[in-house]
Amino acid sequence: MNLNDVIALDKQYYMNTFGDRTPLMFERGDGICLYTDDGEKFTDFFAGIAVNSLGYNYPALTKAIAEQAAKLIHTSSVYYVENQARLAQMLVENSCADKVFFASTGAEANEGIIKLVRKFFYNKNECKPEIITLTNSFHGRTLATVAATGQPKYQAPYAPLLEKFVHIDANDCEALKSAINENTAAIMLELVQGESGVRPLDKGFVALARKLCDDNGIFLIFDEIQTGIGRCGTLFAYEKYGIEPDGFTLAKGLGGGVPVAAICAKAELAAAFSPGDHGTTFGGNPLSTRAGMVVIDELVNNGVLESAANMGEYLGEKLAELAANCDKIAEIRGLGLMRAVEFKEEIAKEVFAKLIEKRYIVGVIGTKILRLVPPLIVTKGDIDGFIATLEEVLQPAGKSLKPF
Ligand SMILES: *Cc1c(COP(=O)(O)O)cnc(C)c1O
Repeated sequence: MNLNDVIALDKQYYMNTFGDRTPLMFERGDGICLYTDDGEKFTDFFAGIAVNSLGYNYPALTKAIAEQAAKLIHTSSVYYVENQARLAQMLVENSCADKVFFASTGAEANEGIIKLVRKFFYNKNECKPEIITLTNSFHGRTLATVAATGQPKYQAPYAPLLEKFVHIDANDCEALKSAINENTAAIMLELVQGESGVRPLDKGFVALARKLCDDNGIFLIFDEIQTGIGRCGTLFAYEKYGIEPDGFTLAKGLGGGVPVAAICAKAELAAAFSPGDHGTTFGGNPLSTRAGMVVIDELVNNGVLESAANMGEYLGEKLAELAANCDKIAEIRGLGLMRAVEFKEEIAKEVFAKLIEKRYIVGVIGTKILRLVPPLIVTKGDIDGFIATLEEVLQPAGKSLKPF
């Protein structure tokens, strides 16, 4: 089937939640490149929304998944699952968490950690229904995580929302202090707000959140679904901040494209779940946890994390140089291989289209922001090629760029 056939089929049979998508369809990928069925090659600085941490057709991952599929894909957690236990061990040994529970998507992991926090206080016979989150946050699309997400556009159609999420502005220390009361159970933060524009939180704000949680005997939860798994230059973004959470969630990059998510928590919080309190059919199955094992092993033991950290710095430097010489760029933001280019005018969609013409893929947020989240295996040469192309797109001929 060619692209137009698939578009017609999609319009007829698929629910219209994505509107008109980018009119591209890929047949295969290799390294950080994607190929259409007619052989056009695109260099990918988006990685399926920060998911394809090891790029495409990464030999160790492809082989492990194929071998695992030939043995077992799923058994259910009615039985013990070796890969589930081993991936949990790998995550605990490389993080501040003591226990792990696997889910299949980010929203499901966040939903689970919200339940875990509620269960903790239920066990103590304390009524603490409130969780503080931030405006412009993004925590997922289930009803609880939509309520946690501080963006009215995702919430309005689904009222009444699950209570009691309290939203305050990022980096507003006074608002954070005054939002805490005897009903507060947790503060839940993305260390870099991804979906709303790649905005890192201030260290002081995160440190205050940690202190308020300690002082009040409540939990600090980090949503590391996008920032985790090497994305920000350390295995988890909290390492960059030097501040440990009581629990955190993972998803996007963890399985290198295979759906696997995780709730990770310190012992005291993790112990709140008793048998029967929570569950999932697919979560932690032999296939998805095998994929997660390869990703963590490649990052930690095979140099991918170190390279990603170096490339993240390099991308940041190159973008800063570009911004210094380009009057169209308002700001560069982000950490590691999670970066945004914000333009002064509403030209992001046009820049995106020109990059597509030049066979580069990036993400777009709103009308002014490009989101760059390449695979963690990106090289210096890849970054140089991308920066030169972005510069070309924004240069003199680019003077004709008009608001989209
Ligand atoms: C993507 C994302 C989610 C939701 O993950 P899904 O797998 O789409 O459910 C939640 N939080 C953050 C920070 C994300 O980036």
